[in-house]
Amino acid sequence: MPGQVIDGKAIALKLREAIMERVKALKSQGILPGLAVVLVGEDPASQVYVGHKAKACQEVGIKSEVMKLPASTSEAELLALVEKLNARPDIHGILVQLPLPKHIHEEKIILAISPDKDVDGFHPLNMGQLFIGSPRLVPCTPYGCLKILQELGLDIAGKQAVVVGRSNIVGKPMAALLLQEHATVTICHSRTRNLSEITKTADILVVAVGKPNFITGEMVKPGAVVLDVGINRLPTGKLVGDVDFSSAAEVAGWITPVPGGVGPMTITMLLFNTLEAINYARK
Ligand code: NDP
Repeated sequence: MPGQVIDGKAIALKLREAIMERVKALKSQGILPGLAVVLVGEDPASQVYVGHKAKACQEVGIKSEVMKLPASTSEAELLALVEKLNARPDIHGILVQLPLPKHIHEEKIILAISPDKDVDGFHPLNMGQLFIGSPRLVPCTPYGCLKILQELGLDIAGKQAVVVGRSNIVGKPMAALLLQEHATVTICHSRTRNLSEITKTADILVVAVGKPNFITGEMVKPGAVVLDVGINRLPTGKLVGDVDFSSAAEVAGWITPVPGGVGPMTITMLLFNTLEAINYARK
């Protein structure tokens, strides 16, 4: 029997309604949550993402300030802006949209953002907290994947989880979150041998590779939960994930589509993290 398609949009909507209620409660205490979104340069995809983030903030009542800087902005100028935002009490979250122009070192910028305002969860302090089992601000995409599993009431403890991809923004934190939830976790990457033998052991399979339709139905264990993080645009203009949806859906128990699966959860968790960051704001 084909697997059930996970409606990421519906889960995201439900969480956003809860976020909206929290924002109302904060406002009644005189706190207006504020997120700064910094965009350097004119990358078209980044412009779209930043636009979506600002709109999502507006919809739940979070104040967002989008700062668009020219591609010629120097590293020192960007660092100075981050310092200013770190010091502003009305800004609880700071997001610098990646990728940055080549002349700016991303790592330096990530390190400069106060860990208390690091709503992307990329600062090594937040990453380290996640890996030692006391998470603070957690990277949005893997956090969204975890929320999907939790919202669907799917068991994680004791399950075999396989994460394909080991990037700092998705694969590694995803593995840490699943481990924290007591799954037995295997991380695969481009040097992994016999990938399909490993993916076939997964009760929970999270794929973040960046290759269209890379994981096919034969690589999926019958009944598995498949979370497809990939977003790939084909030459035809069509958006597809890293999982070949039609063949994998025949085998999986649950599967996220692309679009409409993991994607809507990422921005939702950004909103969530902005509210969480208020707890770290210096009083
Ligand atoms: P990266 O390119 O940073 O990482 C890709 C990972 O896939 C690497 O660890 C790489 O291994 C691994 N990989 C590459 N080829 C293979 C292979 N043949 N077999 C096994 N593993 C392989 O990508 P990201 O993690 O940033 O993103 C992954 C995908 O998720 C992209 O499509 C991206 O667009 C999407 N994405 C979606 C988001 C959302 O909101 N839904 C948010 C962020 C990303 P190695 O380390 O050895 O090179």
